[in-house]
Amino acid sequence: MPIQICTTCGTSYPDTPSPPSDCPICEDERQFVPPGGQLWTTPERLASGHVNGWRQLETALFEIHTHPPFAIGQRALLLRTAQGNILWDCIALLDNATEALIRELGGLDAIAISHPHYYTCMQDWARRFNCPVHLHGADSEWVMRSDPSLRHWQGETLEIAQGVTLIRLGGHFAGGTVLHWADGAEGRGAILSGDIVQVAADLRRVSFLWSYPNMMPLSARTVRRIADTLASWNFDRIYGAFPGRQVMSGGAAAIQSSAARYIELLSGYQP
Ligand SMILES: [Zn+2]
Ligand SMILES: [Zn+2]
Repeated sequence: MPIQICTTCGTSYPDTPSPPSDCPICEDERQFVPPGGQLWTTPERLASGHVNGWRQLETALFEIHTHPPFAIGQRALLLRTAQGNILWDCIALLDNATEALIRELGGLDAIAISHPHYYTCMQDWARRFNCPVHLHGADSEWVMRSDPSLRHWQGETLEIAQGVTLIRLGGHFAGGTVLHWADGAEGRGAILSGDIVQVAADLRRVSFLWSYPNMMPLSARTVRRIADTLASWNFDRIYGAFPGRQVMSGGAAAIQSSAARYIELLSGYQP
């Protein structure tokens, strides 16, 4: 039997004769169940109606994005380092073309994911490329298919390659993680941020939410802690979860100013 994939969030579930009765990721208040009820697909059906598009964001960074957009619609980022390729965040569609292109680029040495909304079909990517998946241990309850490739790390930082460090920020999820890439942005440093630091429509701003679809904020204390944690890292650029969403320069200052304004609005100040 094929695995089952939730069409609302892209999470994959073990192969069973019929789809699961519900998707715990979508039942959670940070996501949603569509008014008509949960729908399911399989890898084969997904691949028959979708393709992955590629974009080179900088010399060592590629975006992989499914067309037409599927589920939450995030991108995965392929980061090339001297110690091998790293996939940041994951998408549900791993078709033969994507596999062939990644193999031409040298395969994958590791996968790291910001939070459970982007776990998707990580187990299949890991098996196909024989690599580990780094997930923060604080979110282990949200893994819907166990797999020997999954590594639950603990603590606040984890260096997975030279100059490539996972930083736990929490917020949107307890184990919410961003990836710091020291050589990114032509050596000025970059953050790959998923939904944990969300690059806003105004590409000079970011935001931080408990739930994006249901528009629920984080506390001032949490936002302050996230901004303070990032203040000790050097970076100029932020690559967010979605195509086109990047703060190209001034990213570190954008986080500090966006956090300060967020806290100001929560505390009742209006201009
Ligand atoms: Zn779901
Ligand atoms: Zn999310």
